[in-house]
Amino acid sequence: MVNNLSNSDGNDIVPGDLAQCQKELGELKRQRAAEAKGLMESKGALLRLLDDAEKEKGFAEEERDRTIAIIKNLGDGIIIIEQEKVVLDNPKAEAFFDIEATEIVGQEIWNLISHPKLSPLIKLLQDYRLDLTKQELVLREGLILEVSAVAIIRGSEEGGKMVILHDITREKSMEKMKTEFVSITAHQLRTPLSAIKWTMNMMLDGDLGPVPEGQRDFLQKTYQSNERMIRLVNDLLNVTRIEEGRFLYDLKPQNIIELTEKIISPLRELAEKKGLKFIFEKASIKVPPIYVDQERFGIALQNLVDNAIHYTTQGKVLVSTAYDEQKEEFYFMIKDEGIGIPIEQQKRVFSRFFRAPNAVKTETEGTGLGLFIAKNIVEAHGGKIWFESEEGKGASFYIMIPRDSRQR
Ligand code: ADP
Repeated sequence: MVNNLSNSDGNDIVPGDLAQCQKELGELKRQRAAEAKGLMESKGALLRLLDDAEKEKGFAEEERDRTIAIIKNLGDGIIIIEQEKVVLDNPKAEAFFDIEATEIVGQEIWNLISHPKLSPLIKLLQDYRLDLTKQELVLREGLILEVSAVAIIRGSEEGGKMVILHDITREKSMEKMKTEFVSITAHQLRTPLSAIKWTMNMMLDGDLGPVPEGQRDFLQKTYQSNERMIRLVNDLLNVTRIEEGRFLYDLKPQNIIELTEKIISPLRELAEKKGLKFIFEKASIKVPPIYVDQERFGIALQNLVDNAIHYTTQGKVLVSTAYDEQKEEFYFMIKDEGIGIPIEQQKRVFSRFFRAPNAVKTETEGTGLGLFIAKNIVEAHGGKIWFESEEGKGASFYIMIPRDSRQR
Protein backbone atom coordinates (compact mmCIF):
# COMPACT_ATOMS: atom_id res chain seq x y z
CA MET A 1 0.00 0.00 0.00
CA VAL A 2 1.28 3.42 -1.00
CA ASN A 3 0.99 6.29 1.45
CA ASN A 4 0.20 9.36 -0.54
CA LEU A 5 2.37 12.43 0.18
CA SER A 6 0.79 15.85 0.64
CA ASN A 7 2.01 19.09 -0.85
CA SER A 8 2.11 22.41 1.08
CA ASP A 9 -1.54 23.05 0.27
CA GLY A 10 -2.40 19.77 1.94
CA ASN A 11 -3.30 18.20 -1.40
CA ASP A 12 -2.09 14.75 -2.06
CA ILE A 13 0.88 14.35 -4.34
CA VAL A 14 0.45 11.56 -6.71
CA PRO A 15 3.48 9.56 -7.97
CA GLY A 16 3.38 11.35 -11.37
CA ASP A 17 3.80 14.71 -9.58
CA LEU A 18 6.74 13.36 -7.58
CA ALA A 19 8.61 12.47 -10.72
CA GLN A 20 7.88 15.95 -12.06
CA CYS A 21 9.09 17.49 -8.77
CA GLN A 22 12.30 15.49 -8.85
CA LYS A 23 12.90 16.56 -12.43
CA GLU A 24 12.34 20.23 -11.56
CA LEU A 25 14.59 19.89 -8.52
CA GLY A 26 17.27 18.36 -10.69
CA GLU A 27 16.86 21.23 -13.18
CA LEU A 28 17.10 23.77 -10.31
CA LYS A 29 20.24 22.13 -8.99
CA ARG A 30 21.83 22.24 -12.44
CA GLN A 31 20.91 25.92 -12.77
CA ARG A 32 22.37 26.68 -9.33
CA ALA A 33 25.52 24.76 -10.20
CA ALA A 34 25.79 26.67 -13.51
CA GLU A 35 25.24 29.97 -11.70
CA ALA A 36 27.83 29.08 -9.07
CA LYS A 37 30.28 28.20 -11.82
CA GLY A 38 29.50 31.46 -13.60
CA LEU A 39 30.00 33.36 -10.36
CA MET A 40 33.32 31.63 -9.76
CA GLU A 41 34.39 32.48 -13.27
CA SER A 42 33.35 36.13 -12.83
CA LYS A 43 35.17 36.21 -9.52
CA GLY A 44 38.28 34.81 -11.20
CA ALA A 45 37.99 37.34 -14.01
CA LEU A 46 37.49 40.16 -11.51
CA LEU A 47 40.48 39.05 -9.51
CA ARG A 48 42.54 38.90 -12.68
CA LEU A 49 41.34 42.41 -13.62
CA LEU A 50 42.24 43.66 -10.17
CA ASP A 51 45.61 42.04 -10.49
CA ASP A 52 46.13 43.62 -13.92
CA ALA A 53 45.02 47.02 -12.60
CA GLU A 54 47.43 46.62 -9.71
CA LYS A 55 50.24 45.78 -12.12
CA GLU A 56 49.30 48.72 -14.40
CA LYS A 57 49.32 51.01 -11.38
CA GLY A 58 52.74 49.65 -10.48
CA PHE A 59 54.02 50.29 -14.01
CA ALA A 60 52.50 53.79 -14.06
CA GLU A 61 54.11 54.56 -10.70
CA GLU A 62 57.42 53.21 -11.93
CA GLU A 63 57.10 55.28 -15.11
CA ARG A 64 56.22 58.39 -13.09
CA ASP A 65 59.16 57.83 -10.73
CA ARG A 66 61.47 57.35 -13.69
CA THR A 67 60.19 60.56 -15.36
CA ILE A 68 60.56 62.50 -12.11
CA ALA A 69 64.08 61.11 -11.65
CA ILE A 70 64.99 62.21 -15.19
CA ILE A 71 63.51 65.67 -14.63
CA LYS A 72 65.30 65.99 -11.28
CA ASN A 73 68.65 65.09 -12.84
CA LEU A 74 68.36 67.11 -16.04
CA GLY A 75 71.07 69.64 -16.86
CA ASP A 76 68.31 72.11 -17.80
CA GLY A 77 66.02 73.72 -15.25
CA ILE A 78 62.42 72.49 -15.40
CA ILE A 79 59.25 73.92 -13.91
CA ILE A 80 55.96 72.12 -14.50
CA ILE A 81 52.74 74.08 -14.34
CA GLU A 82 49.25 72.57 -14.20
CA GLN A 83 46.13 74.71 -14.03
CA GLU A 84 48.33 77.74 -13.39
CA LYS A 85 49.94 76.10 -10.34
CA VAL A 86 53.53 74.93 -10.07
CA VAL A 87 53.41 71.18 -9.49
CA LEU A 88 57.06 70.25 -9.89
CA ASP A 89 60.48 71.81 -10.34
CA ASN A 90 63.96 70.40 -10.42
CA PRO A 91 67.17 71.20 -8.51
CA LYS A 92 68.67 72.94 -11.55
CA ALA A 93 65.76 75.41 -11.69
CA GLU A 94 66.12 75.98 -7.93
CA ALA A 95 69.86 76.59 -8.37
CA PHE A 96 69.34 79.11 -11.21
CA PHE A 97 67.06 81.21 -9.01
CA ASP A 98 68.66 80.33 -5.69
CA ILE A 99 65.35 79.16 -4.20
CA GLU A 100 63.94 76.11 -2.39
CA ALA A 101 61.23 73.85 -3.86
CA THR A 102 58.94 74.86 -1.00
CA GLU A 103 58.96 78.46 -2.21
CA ILE A 104 57.51 77.53 -5.56
CA VAL A 105 55.79 74.11 -5.65
CA GLY A 106 52.06 74.39 -4.96
CA GLN A 107 52.03 78.14 -5.64
CA GLU A 108 49.87 79.92 -8.25
CA ILE A 109 52.38 80.77 -10.99
CA TRP A 110 51.26 84.40 -11.45
CA ASN A 111 51.41 85.07 -7.69
CA LEU A 112 55.14 84.42 -7.89
CA ILE A 113 55.58 87.74 -9.75
CA SER A 114 56.15 89.31 -6.35
CA HIS A 115 58.88 86.80 -5.49
CA PRO A 116 62.10 88.85 -5.57
CA LYS A 117 64.16 86.14 -7.26
CA LEU A 118 61.54 84.74 -9.62
CA SER A 119 59.87 87.91 -10.82
CA PRO A 120 62.00 88.36 -14.02
CA LEU A 121 61.07 84.84 -15.14
CA ILE A 122 57.38 85.18 -14.26
CA LYS A 123 57.25 88.53 -16.05
CA LEU A 124 58.72 86.95 -19.18
CA LEU A 125 56.24 84.03 -19.01
CA GLN A 126 53.43 86.53 -18.54
CA ASP A 127 54.53 88.65 -21.51
CA TYR A 128 54.31 85.59 -23.76
CA ARG A 129 51.26 84.07 -22.01
CA LEU A 130 53.27 80.92 -21.42
CA ASP A 131 53.80 80.46 -25.15
CA LEU A 132 57.47 81.13 -25.81
CA THR A 133 60.45 79.54 -27.49
CA LYS A 134 64.08 80.30 -26.83
CA GLN A 135 63.64 83.71 -25.24
CA GLU A 136 66.73 85.11 -23.56
CA LEU A 137 66.60 86.03 -19.91
CA VAL A 138 69.59 87.78 -18.38
CA LEU A 139 69.30 86.81 -14.73
CA ARG A 140 72.43 88.40 -13.41
CA GLU A 141 76.03 89.05 -14.42
CA GLY A 142 77.31 85.70 -15.64
CA LEU A 143 73.96 83.91 -15.97
CA ILE A 144 71.91 84.05 -19.15
CA LEU A 145 69.05 81.60 -19.63
CA GLU A 146 67.15 80.60 -22.72
CA VAL A 147 63.53 80.09 -21.71
CA SER A 148 60.97 77.98 -23.58
CA ALA A 149 57.57 76.63 -22.55
CA VAL A 150 56.17 73.50 -24.14
CA ALA A 151 52.71 72.03 -23.77
CA ILE A 152 52.41 68.69 -21.98
CA ILE A 153 49.95 66.69 -24.06
CA ARG A 154 47.87 63.98 -22.34
CA GLY A 155 45.82 62.01 -24.83
CA SER A 156 44.68 64.75 -27.13
CA GLU A 157 44.44 67.46 -24.51
CA GLU A 158 46.91 69.88 -23.04
CA GLY A 159 47.68 68.78 -19.51
CA GLY A 160 49.89 71.71 -18.50
CA LYS A 161 53.11 73.44 -19.46
CA MET A 162 56.73 72.56 -18.98
CA VAL A 163 59.05 75.57 -18.69
CA ILE A 164 62.57 74.71 -19.83
CA LEU A 165 65.49 76.85 -18.64
CA HIS A 166 68.67 76.35 -20.62
CA ASP A 167 71.93 77.98 -19.53
CA ILE A 168 73.45 79.80 -22.54
CA THR A 169 75.95 81.93 -20.65
CA ARG A 170 78.95 80.22 -22.22
CA GLU A 171 77.59 80.39 -25.79
CA LYS A 172 76.77 84.05 -25.27
CA SER A 173 80.20 84.93 -23.98
CA MET A 174 81.84 83.04 -26.89
CA GLU A 175 79.56 84.87 -29.31
CA LYS A 176 80.46 88.18 -27.70
CA MET A 177 84.17 87.42 -28.00
CA LYS A 178 83.71 86.46 -31.66
CA THR A 179 81.75 89.63 -32.38
CA GLU A 180 84.38 91.76 -30.64
CA PHE A 181 87.14 90.04 -32.57
CA VAL A 182 85.38 90.62 -35.90
CA SER A 183 84.61 94.21 -34.95
CA ILE A 184 88.23 95.00 -34.01
CA THR A 185 89.61 93.30 -37.14
CA ALA A 186 87.13 95.07 -39.40
CA HIS A 187 87.93 98.44 -37.84
CA GLN A 188 91.64 97.82 -38.26
CA LEU A 189 91.13 96.97 -41.93
CA ARG A 190 88.99 99.98 -42.70
CA THR A 191 91.71 102.62 -42.61
CA PRO A 192 94.25 100.87 -44.88
CA LEU A 193 91.48 99.91 -47.33
CA SER A 194 90.32 103.53 -47.52
CA ALA A 195 93.92 104.62 -48.05
CA ILE A 196 94.30 102.10 -50.90
CA LYS A 197 91.04 103.30 -52.45
CA TRP A 198 92.20 106.89 -52.25
CA THR A 199 95.63 106.12 -53.78
CA MET A 200 94.13 103.95 -56.53
CA ASN A 201 91.70 106.71 -57.45
CA MET A 202 94.57 109.18 -57.74
CA MET A 203 96.53 106.74 -59.87
CA LEU A 204 93.59 105.98 -62.17
CA ASP A 205 92.83 109.70 -62.54
CA GLY A 206 96.48 110.25 -63.55
CA ASP A 207 97.15 112.51 -60.54
CA LEU A 208 100.33 110.59 -59.82
CA GLY A 209 101.51 110.74 -63.40
CA PRO A 210 100.35 109.04 -66.59
CA VAL A 211 99.38 105.36 -66.29
CA PRO A 212 101.07 103.17 -68.91
CA GLU A 213 98.32 101.54 -71.02
CA GLY A 214 99.25 97.98 -70.05
CA GLN A 215 98.83 98.82 -66.38
CA ARG A 216 95.37 100.46 -66.40
CA ASP A 217 93.52 97.14 -66.59
CA PHE A 218 95.63 95.75 -63.77
CA LEU A 219 95.00 98.86 -61.64
CA GLN A 220 91.28 98.65 -62.30
CA LYS A 221 91.15 95.02 -61.18
CA THR A 222 93.01 95.88 -57.99
CA TYR A 223 90.59 98.75 -57.41
CA GLN A 224 87.62 96.36 -57.79
CA SER A 225 89.13 93.85 -55.34
CA ASN A 226 89.68 96.64 -52.86
CA GLU A 227 86.06 97.73 -53.29
CA ARG A 228 84.91 94.18 -52.50
CA MET A 229 87.06 94.17 -49.38
CA ILE A 230 85.55 97.49 -48.32
CA ARG A 231 82.06 96.05 -48.84
CA LEU A 232 82.91 92.98 -46.78
CA VAL A 233 84.39 95.09 -43.98
CA ASN A 234 81.31 97.35 -43.98
CA ASP A 235 78.99 94.33 -43.90
CA LEU A 236 80.96 92.82 -41.02
CA LEU A 237 80.84 96.08 -39.10
CA ASN A 238 77.09 96.34 -39.65
CA VAL A 239 76.58 92.75 -38.47
CA THR A 240 78.62 93.33 -35.32
CA ARG A 241 76.69 96.53 -34.64
CA ILE A 242 73.39 94.64 -35.03
CA GLU A 243 74.59 91.86 -32.75
CA GLU A 244 75.81 94.22 -30.09
CA GLY A 245 72.59 96.23 -30.28
CA ARG A 246 74.59 99.29 -31.38
CA PHE A 247 72.84 99.68 -34.73
CA LEU A 248 70.85 102.73 -33.69
CA TYR A 249 68.09 104.12 -35.81
CA ASP A 250 67.16 107.68 -36.50
CA LEU A 251 63.63 107.55 -37.92
CA LYS A 252 62.60 110.67 -39.81
CA PRO A 253 59.69 111.33 -42.19
CA GLN A 254 60.95 110.82 -45.74
CA ASN A 255 59.62 111.16 -49.25
CA ILE A 256 60.07 107.45 -49.83
CA ILE A 257 59.67 107.56 -53.61
CA GLU A 258 62.40 110.18 -53.99
CA LEU A 259 64.59 108.33 -51.53
CA THR A 260 64.10 105.05 -53.45
CA GLU A 261 65.00 106.74 -56.74
CA LYS A 262 68.17 108.09 -55.17
CA ILE A 263 69.13 104.67 -53.76
CA ILE A 264 68.49 102.73 -56.95
CA SER A 265 69.96 105.23 -59.42
CA PRO A 266 73.56 103.86 -59.36
CA LEU A 267 72.14 100.33 -59.44
CA ARG A 268 70.10 101.10 -62.55
CA GLU A 269 73.39 101.97 -64.27
CA LEU A 270 74.94 98.71 -63.08
CA ALA A 271 71.98 96.70 -64.39
CA GLU A 272 71.98 98.43 -67.74
CA LYS A 273 75.72 97.93 -68.09
CA LYS A 274 75.01 94.23 -67.63
CA GLY A 275 72.41 94.35 -70.41
CA LEU A 276 69.44 93.97 -68.06
CA LYS A 277 66.22 95.91 -68.37
CA PHE A 278 65.66 97.91 -65.19
CA ILE A 279 62.16 99.14 -64.34
CA PHE A 280 61.04 101.27 -61.40
CA GLU A 281 57.29 101.46 -60.81
CA LYS A 282 56.08 104.25 -58.53
CA ALA A 283 53.11 103.70 -56.24
CA SER A 284 49.88 104.55 -58.04
CA ILE A 285 48.64 106.83 -55.26
CA LYS A 286 50.19 109.72 -53.37
CA VAL A 287 52.34 108.40 -50.56
CA PRO A 288 52.57 110.33 -47.26
CA PRO A 289 55.98 110.76 -45.61
CA ILE A 290 57.26 107.41 -44.33
CA TYR A 291 59.38 107.23 -41.19
CA VAL A 292 62.70 105.60 -42.05
CA ASP A 293 66.33 105.87 -41.14
CA GLN A 294 67.56 107.11 -44.50
CA GLU A 295 71.03 105.61 -44.31
CA ARG A 296 70.10 102.23 -42.81
CA PHE A 297 67.06 101.78 -44.99
CA GLY A 298 69.23 102.60 -48.01
CA ILE A 299 71.54 99.71 -47.05
CA ALA A 300 68.60 97.26 -46.93
CA LEU A 301 67.04 98.28 -50.24
CA GLN A 302 70.42 98.48 -51.94
CA ASN A 303 71.23 94.93 -50.85
CA LEU A 304 68.02 93.54 -52.33
CA VAL A 305 68.31 95.39 -55.65
CA ASP A 306 72.01 94.58 -55.84
CA ASN A 307 71.21 90.87 -55.40
CA ALA A 308 68.51 90.99 -58.08
CA ILE A 309 71.07 92.41 -60.53
CA HIS A 310 73.91 90.11 -59.48
CA TYR A 311 71.92 86.90 -59.66
CA THR A 312 70.31 87.69 -63.02
CA THR A 313 72.19 87.19 -66.27
CA GLN A 314 69.44 88.25 -68.67
CA GLY A 315 65.94 89.67 -68.61
CA LYS A 316 64.63 92.36 -66.33
CA VAL A 317 64.79 93.62 -62.79
CA LEU A 318 61.65 95.32 -61.53
CA VAL A 319 61.41 97.51 -58.45
CA SER A 320 57.76 98.17 -57.73
CA THR A 321 56.25 100.23 -54.91
CA ALA A 322 52.75 100.50 -53.47
CA TYR A 323 51.00 102.12 -50.52
CA ASP A 324 48.07 100.72 -48.57
CA GLU A 325 46.20 103.75 -47.22
CA GLN A 326 44.03 101.75 -44.87
CA LYS A 327 46.82 99.84 -43.22
CA GLU A 328 49.23 102.77 -43.60
CA GLU A 329 51.90 100.45 -44.97
CA PHE A 330 54.41 100.96 -47.76
CA TYR A 331 55.45 98.01 -49.92
CA PHE A 332 58.40 97.20 -52.14
CA MET A 333 58.71 94.34 -54.57
CA ILE A 334 62.11 93.60 -56.09
CA LYS A 335 61.57 91.03 -58.80
CA ASP A 336 64.18 89.47 -61.05
CA GLU A 337 64.40 86.77 -63.70
CA GLY A 338 67.63 85.25 -62.48
CA ILE A 339 68.91 82.00 -61.04
CA GLY A 340 66.35 81.85 -58.20
CA ILE A 341 66.82 80.17 -54.83
CA PRO A 342 66.57 76.36 -54.57
CA ILE A 343 63.60 75.33 -52.44
CA GLU A 344 65.74 73.29 -50.03
CA GLN A 345 67.89 76.36 -49.24
CA GLN A 346 65.06 78.83 -48.79
CA LYS A 347 64.77 78.47 -45.00
CA ARG A 348 68.33 79.69 -44.50
CA VAL A 349 68.28 82.70 -46.79
CA PHE A 350 68.24 85.32 -44.02
CA SER A 351 70.93 83.61 -41.90
CA ARG A 352 74.40 85.03 -41.54
CA PHE A 353 76.94 83.89 -44.17
CA PHE A 354 74.38 81.89 -46.11
CA ARG A 355 75.09 81.51 -49.82
CA ALA A 356 73.17 79.03 -51.97
CA PRO A 357 75.36 76.71 -54.09
CA ASN A 358 73.80 77.97 -57.36
CA ALA A 359 74.72 81.54 -56.32
CA VAL A 360 78.30 80.59 -55.46
CA LYS A 361 78.61 78.97 -58.90
CA THR A 362 77.35 82.01 -60.82
CA GLU A 363 78.60 84.83 -58.65
CA THR A 364 81.74 83.91 -56.79
CA GLU A 365 81.90 87.19 -54.88
CA GLY A 366 79.46 87.62 -52.02
CA THR A 367 79.50 87.74 -48.25
CA GLY A 368 76.18 86.11 -47.39
CA LEU A 369 75.55 89.02 -45.03
CA GLY A 370 73.39 91.34 -47.11
CA LEU A 371 70.03 89.69 -46.44
CA PHE A 372 70.78 89.21 -42.74
CA ILE A 373 71.49 92.94 -42.47
CA ALA A 374 68.44 93.85 -44.61
CA LYS A 375 66.13 91.73 -42.43
CA ASN A 376 67.40 93.34 -39.24
CA ILE A 377 67.00 96.84 -40.68
CA VAL A 378 63.47 96.17 -41.98
CA GLU A 379 62.39 94.63 -38.67
CA ALA A 380 63.88 97.55 -36.75
CA HIS A 381 61.49 99.73 -38.79
CA GLY A 382 58.61 97.55 -37.55
CA GLY A 383 58.39 96.02 -41.04
CA LYS A 384 58.54 92.62 -42.66
CA ILE A 385 60.66 91.05 -45.36
CA TRP A 386 59.89 87.89 -47.30
CA PHE A 387 60.37 86.32 -50.72
CA GLU A 388 59.09 83.88 -53.30
CA SER A 389 61.40 82.02 -55.60
CA GLU A 390 61.90 78.96 -57.72
CA GLU A 391 65.30 77.82 -58.88
CA GLY A 392 65.95 78.99 -62.44
CA LYS A 393 62.83 81.16 -62.48
CA GLY A 394 63.94 84.26 -60.61
CA ALA A 395 63.12 85.65 -57.21
CA SER A 396 60.76 88.27 -55.80
CA PHE A 397 61.67 89.92 -52.53
CA TYR A 398 59.09 91.96 -50.64
CA ILE A 399 59.42 94.59 -47.94
CA MET A 400 56.63 96.11 -45.89
CA ILE A 401 57.35 99.25 -43.89
CA PRO A 402 54.69 100.85 -41.68
CA ARG A 403 54.16 104.57 -42.28
CA ASP A 404 55.28 105.36 -38.75
CA SER A 405 56.60 102.44 -36.72
CA ARG A 406 56.98 104.68 -33.65
CA GLN A 407 53.19 104.57 -33.25
CA ARG A 408 52.90 100.76 -33.33
P1 ADP B 1 75.46 87.65 -50.94
O1 ADP B 1 74.60 88.11 -52.07
O2 ADP B 1 76.57 88.57 -50.63
O3 ADP B 1 75.90 86.23 -51.09
P2 ADP B 1 73.06 87.95 -49.34
O4 ADP B 1 72.90 87.84 -47.86
O5 ADP B 1 72.65 89.22 -49.97
O6 ADP B 1 74.58 87.63 -49.60
O7 ADP B 1 72.28 86.77 -50.01
C1 ADP B 1 72.41 85.47 -49.45
C2 ADP B 1 72.16 84.41 -50.51
O8 ADP B 1 70.78 84.42 -50.88
C3 ADP B 1 72.92 84.63 -51.81
O9 ADP B 1 74.25 84.16 -51.73
C4 ADP B 1 72.06 83.81 -52.76
O10 ADP B 1 72.32 82.44 -52.61
C5 ADP B 1 70.65 84.07 -52.25
N1 ADP B 1 70.00 85.20 -52.95
C6 ADP B 1 69.73 86.41 -52.46
N2 ADP B 1 69.07 87.16 -53.36
C7 ADP B 1 68.92 86.39 -54.44
C8 ADP B 1 68.29 86.60 -55.73
N3 ADP B 1 67.72 87.75 -56.04
N4 ADP B 1 68.32 85.57 -56.60
C9 ADP B 1 68.89 84.40 -56.27
N5 ADP B 1 69.49 84.15 -55.09
C10 ADP B 1 69.50 85.13 -54.19
